[in-house]
Amino acid sequence: MTAVTRRLLELGMIREVETTPSRGGRPAVLLGLVGTAARAVGVKVAADHLTIVGVRLDGEVLGETTQPFDAAHPDALARLADALSPFCADTSGAPPLLGVGVGIPGVVADPEVGSVDAPILQWSSKPVGAELRSRLGQPVIVENDVNAVAVAERLYGNGRDLDCFLVVTIGSGVGSALVQDGVVFRGARGAAGEFGHVPVSVDGPLCRCGRRGCLEAMIGSAALVESARAAGAIEAGQGLEILTARAEAGLEAARDVFAQAGETLGRAIAVLANVLDPRQVLILGEGTSAWSLWEGTFLRTAEAHLTGRLAFTVDPWDDSRWAQGAAALVLAAPFDSRGTGGRESEKVLAKLAGEGRST
Ligand SMILES: [Zn+2]
Repeated sequence: MTAVTRRLLELGMIREVETTPSRGGRPAVLLGLVGTAARAVGVKVAADHLTIVGVRLDGEVLGETTQPFDAAHPDALARLADALSPFCADTSGAPPLLGVGVGIPGVVADPEVGSVDAPILQWSSKPVGAELRSRLGQPVIVENDVNAVAVAERLYGNGRDLDCFLVVTIGSGVGSALVQDGVVFRGARGAAGEFGHVPVSVDGPLCRCGRRGCLEAMIGSAALVESARAAGAIEAGQGLEILTARAEAGLEAARDVFAQAGETLGRAIAVLANVLDPRQVLILGEGTSAWSLWEGTFLRTAEAHLTGRLAFTVDPWDDSRWAQGAAALVLAAPFDSRGTGGRESEKVLAKLAGEGRST
């Protein structure tokens, strides 16, 4: 038993659970948590919108909203704080707030500090953590969005019983996160897992990162649409939705676009898996809604290159899971044995302890 677990037991925040029945798929330690005791707010920041959720300690979503947002605006952080503050308010009946988690499509050197480099948002050394802490008066933990989703998978999802697994996300972007010994592997600069920018083609299309032949430039949503137009599967002005519908209806040129993407992803994941030896790969993200079109060539190619057996899991995806991942950064604090969230996680724990004392 860790010191944290003992502390939560003393506070009455968890009950000892003798057996490990996987009711609702939650891990035993969380089964014992008093779910209604506290909540966290999570926000996923995209270039043109925000998704914000309130989540209870046991993972139950209390409410969510999506609203327009201009990340490039000079007052973006003040506006982000304004969007978050109604969720941070103590409304009657809502469990007390432990803190705010922020998921960013970019690199966060240190989740405790929360300084962000995200070219997609036009953010460079943006002091997201410091600004939100001062405006909201709450603990704030900032992390790369795919890493945050991996934390949520570890706490509540398919990674709950796995010490070592890979998360790969497909959609407009392509990303990955490695959970090793139960914690996200962050690398030397917090930039580990930039899977979308591994080179897979010598003279491939130009990527939004400025390099050529990146995985994301080959299989990201925009790349699929581009290939489909070049192949005559869709016309100019038509997008992914029509491409998917035509592929599902059996149009060969449209099906080929996804089959090619499945093959490219299968080979790229085999590279990652052969190096890292995860127990399972969880494939997530909005791109999985068309997974049946990727799956055949993906599995064939991956299995042809894998040195060992590997399980792939693809879940139905809901875009609010990005924001739920951000909230999990806060909710994971009691289980953050390595102190990834640093002082911010300690503040979350102190709040949790305070609630334990008052009940
Ligand atoms: Zn790139």
